[in-house]
Amino acid sequence: MSRTEQFIHEVDRWSARNYGPLPVVLERGEGVWVWDVEGRRYLDMLAAYSAVNQGHRHPRILAALEEQAGRLTLTSRAFHNDRMGPFLHELCEAAGFDRALPMNTGAEAVETAIKAARKWGYEVKGVPADRAEILVCENNFHGRTTTIVGFSSEAQYRAGFGPFAPGFRLIPYGDAAALERAITPDTVGFLVEPIQGEGGIVVPPEGYLGCVHEMCREHGVLVLNDEIQTGLGRTGKLFCGDWDGTRGDIMIVGKALGGGVFPVSAILANDEVMDVFRPGDHGSTFGGNPLGAAVGQAALRVILEERLPERSNELGTWFQDRLREIESPHVEAIRGRGLMIGIVIREESGPARPFCEALMRRGILCNDTHHQVIRIAPPLVVTREVLDDALATISEVVTAGSPAALA
Ligand SMILES: *Cc1c(COP(=O)(O)O)cnc(C)c1O
Repeated sequence: MSRTEQFIHEVDRWSARNYGPLPVVLERGEGVWVWDVEGRRYLDMLAAYSAVNQGHRHPRILAALEEQAGRLTLTSRAFHNDRMGPFLHELCEAAGFDRALPMNTGAEAVETAIKAARKWGYEVKGVPADRAEILVCENNFHGRTTTIVGFSSEAQYRAGFGPFAPGFRLIPYGDAAALERAITPDTVGFLVEPIQGEGGIVVPPEGYLGCVHEMCREHGVLVLNDEIQTGLGRTGKLFCGDWDGTRGDIMIVGKALGGGVFPVSAILANDEVMDVFRPGDHGSTFGGNPLGAAVGQAALRVILEERLPERSNELGTWFQDRLREIESPHVEAIRGRGLMIGIVIREESGPARPFCEALMRRGILCNDTHHQVIRIAPPLVVTREVLDDALATISEVVTAGSPAALA
C-alpha cells in the first residue's frame, strides 16, 4: 500500500462517512501550493471554500497566531480580553457597521443573524410573538445546523434530519418581484447569498442585491447578507454586495476571516439591530477568544493591505475571459465574479467530478459543486503566471474527448 492508500484506509475505517474527498492526502502548504504525502505539489484552486484567501500559512497571520499563542488563548466571555476589542473595532470600520458579534464557524454566525433578526422583529418591528418569518432562497447554502438545513432546498441536506424549525419560507433566487410578493407583515428578514457558492456559483441578475435591499427597507424587512464565502475579497470587492452598493442590514462573515488557520466568524449590524442582544441572550465559549481575535485582525489586515480584492478583480476578470475562449464540447458556461468561478459542465458530458479527478492527476486541486460545476477559487495571492499555467491544464482536461479517457 502507498502512503496515500494507508492514510485513506485509516480515514475510511475510523471517520464518519460524511464526506467524499478526492483521493489526495495533503501534508504541507505554502501560499497557493500544497504538497501530498508522496511529495507531489498541487495548485490549490479551492482554497478551502475561500477560507484560505490569503494563501496557506501567510507569514503575518502565522506571526499573529504564534505571538498570541505565547500569551493568552482563551478566557471565555465571562472576562474581558485585550484582543477582542481592537479586532472588532477594525472589522467594524472596514465593514462600515456600528457593532460586531464574534462567533467561530459560519453556521454559528448564520444562526446568530437569525436570532438577531427575529428579536428585532418582535422588539422593534412589533411582530406578534412567535410569528416572525424569514425568507430564504431556493438553492441556498448557509451551513449544516438543523435549523439551517431545515430551510435548504437540497433534498439530501434535509433527508433524515427532521423535524425542522418553522419560520422560514423559500422563494426563487435572483427574482426581486418574487421577494416583494412573498413579504407579509410578519416578515422580519431576507437571508441571501450575493452569489450562491455551494449552489453552483450562481450569479444573480445585475443590481439584484441593491434592488432587494431597497425593497426590504420600504417594507421594514432586514437583509441578512451572507458573505461567508463571497466576502473578504473573493469576488473582486471587499464584500460582494459592494458591486450593488449595499452590505445589507446584518452582514455575516466567516471563512477567510480566520486566515485559513483558525475558525473566526461574526455578524455585523448597526445599533438598531445589535442592541436587541442583552447579557445572557446569546453566546459561545470560544467566540471572541484572544487567539481567534489576533488571527482575525491579521487576516483582515492582509486582505486590505495586500489589496487582495483589487487583485481578485483584475486576475479574475482576465482568467474568466481566457476560460471563455476555450472551445470545449463539455463546457456549457463560465460563471462568476473575480476569482470565484464556476465552469459549468453539460449534462450530456456527465458530472463535473471526473474532470476534477483529471485535474488532480495534473496537479490542480478543485472540487465539484452542485453536480455539474467545477469550482475554481484559488487563494487571492495567486499570480498571473501561475494562473496562466493552470489555464493550459484546464484547457487540456475540458477539451479531451471524455474525462474518463484522461488517465
Ligand atoms: C461555508 C458557508 C457557510 C457555513 O460555514 P461553516 O464555517 O462551514 O459553518 C455558510 N454560508 C455560506 C455562504 C458558506 O459558503
